Amino acid sequence: MEKEGIEFVIGKQKNIALIAHDNKKSEIIAWCTQHAEILKKHFLFGTGTTARMIAEHTGLPIRGFNSGPLGGDLQIGARIVDNKIDIVIFFSDPLTAQPHDPDVKALLRIAQVYDIPIANNKATADFIITSAYMNTEYTHRLMDFKHTVEERASVLEVKL
Ligand code: PGA
Repeated sequence: MEKEGIEFVIGKQKNIALIAHDNKKSEIIAWCTQHAEILKKHFLFGTGTTARMIAEHTGLPIRGFNSGPLGGDLQIGARIVDNKIDIVIFFSDPLTAQPHDPDVKALLRIAQVYDIPIANNKATADFIITSAYMNTEYTHRLMDFKHTVEERASVLEVKL
């Protein structure tokens, strides 16, 4: 039987998105310092404030998007859809209400749809960053999204 979906390859050098809610910013900076030697080998991105603070405190090169509450999480989500972000490290704060909670949910959901490794606490982030896959390509199968659109458009009934 033909395998369903299409193959996607996450390259050896990963595009990693880093995000931390305000109460977790110190923790992500400490985490980046701890894993700086590994992180240096990849391309780093982040929501505005997190990226700025990581750059200032660690010297790691990192491209910042908008601040999270102003759409930064959604920019990262959109890049997942475009196959431009491979891993998300998101130190989220489970004890504080966030104004952009729907955006956070959208990011988590789209990472799940595209089978993107996503850590939302330090232990998971530690496991991901020390994984053997960080030094190799990783191949995974995703739904064939173009085919899905064609199929849906052909079966959905139109009532004019
Ligand atoms: P920030 O956004 O890095 O701009 O603070 C993070 C977030 O709250 O999602």
